[in-house]
Amino acid sequence: MAGIYVHVPFCHAKCAYCDFYSKPVHAADAEKYVIALINELAARRNELSESVKTVYIGGGTPSSLPARSLLRLMEALPSDGITEYTIEVNPEDVSHKFVDMLKKHTPVNRISMGVQSLRDDELRYIGRRHSAKQAIDAANIIKGAGFSLSLDLIYGLPGQTAGSWQFSLDSLLALTPEHLSCYLLSYEPGTRLNAMRLSGKVTEAPDSLAADMYDILTSATARAGYRHYEISNFALPGHEAVHNSSYWNLTPYLGLGPGAHSFGGHDRSYNPSDLKGYIEASGIGFAIKETETDAERFNDFIITSLRTTNGIDLERCRVLFGEDRQRLVSATAGQFVKSGIMWLADGKTGICEKHWLRSDSIMVEFIEV
Ligand code: SF4
Repeated sequence: MAGIYVHVPFCHAKCAYCDFYSKPVHAADAEKYVIALINELAARRNELSESVKTVYIGGGTPSSLPARSLLRLMEALPSDGITEYTIEVNPEDVSHKFVDMLKKHTPVNRISMGVQSLRDDELRYIGRRHSAKQAIDAANIIKGAGFSLSLDLIYGLPGQTAGSWQFSLDSLLALTPEHLSCYLLSYEPGTRLNAMRLSGKVTEAPDSLAADMYDILTSATARAGYRHYEISNFALPGHEAVHNSSYWNLTPYLGLGPGAHSFGGHDRSYNPSDLKGYIEASGIGFAIKETETDAERFNDFIITSLRTTNGIDLERCRVLFGEDRQRLVSATAGQFVKSGIMWLADGKTGICEKHWLRSDSIMVEFIEV
C-alpha cells in the first residue's frame, strides 16, 4: 500500500505560530499551481510501485483554493481503490455549499479542520481568522454531511490557562469528532509568535502548566472513549488516521507540490518550498533526492516507532538493522523500563503514555549521531 500527499501552498493569511510553507492565495497562481501539480503527478506516478490507498490534501489551506481549481486538482488524482481520502480545511471556508460540492463531486471521505482553540481571545491572539462559533458551526455542517471529521487543537497558547484549555477540549469533544490531533505549541524560528517571545511580549508556558494540560488532555479523551495511538493523535475505535500512520510505519508515499516530501520505501526526496520555481518548472524535475545514511534510516525507524503506542518492534529492528543494534536498543530500553518510563511486552518496547510529553529527551538516548 502507498499514499499520495498534496501540499497546497496557499493560505488566506499567516497564523502567528505557523512555519508551514504557504503564500497568500491568488486565483491566477492557484490555477498555474494546479497545472504544475497535474504535470508532476503524471511525471512521478511510477515512483510508487504499490497501489495507492490513501490521498491527503494538506498545506497550507486547501479550502482556500478557488472551487474550480480544487476540483481540477482532485480530478487528476487517483480515486479508485482509495480507502481514506482527506482534505484539510479551515472553519472560515466551510459552508453547506462547499461541503455539498465535496460530497457530490469528489471522493473525499474525511475532513481535517484546524480549530486550535474554542476561545475567541486565544484565537485572535494567534491570528486565526475564525471565531469559536464559526468552528463549531463548521464541524456540525461537516458531521451533518456524513464525513469523518478530524479536529486540530493547540495547548500551551499565550494566555491559556488549565481552565481555558479544559473548556476548549470539552467543547470540542462535545462535537464528537472521530479523530483529534492536539499539539503543544512550539515557537518556531521565523514566526511572528517567536519574534514576540524573543522581544518579551509573550512567554512560553512553563513545563508544569504544559504537563497539567497534557494530563487534562489524556484524561478527557480517555473518558470520551478515544484511543491515544500516537503522541499527538487520538481516535475513536477504528478511526485512526491511515495516511498519517503510513508516515510512522514507513509506508511509501509520493509528495506533490512545493514543500512536499516523498518516501519511496528506501529513498527520500523533497520539493523545495518555492511556488514560483515550481510553476516555472511546471512541476517537472523539481524534486531533490536526499541520500539517507544507514544511521539516518535507523534514527527514522526509532523516532517514528517511539511516537506510537505500537513502539519499537525488536525483531523488525534486528531484520532491518542487525543484531548489534537490536541489542543496543534493548539495553537502552531496559534502563527506562526499570524506572517505569517505558514498557516492554511481546517483543516490543515503547514510551508509557504519561511520559510522552518528554519523549524527545528519551528518543535522544536511542538515536545515533
Ligand atoms: S496554521 Fe494553517 S491556516 Fe494558519 S498559516 Fe499555517 S497552514 Fe495556513
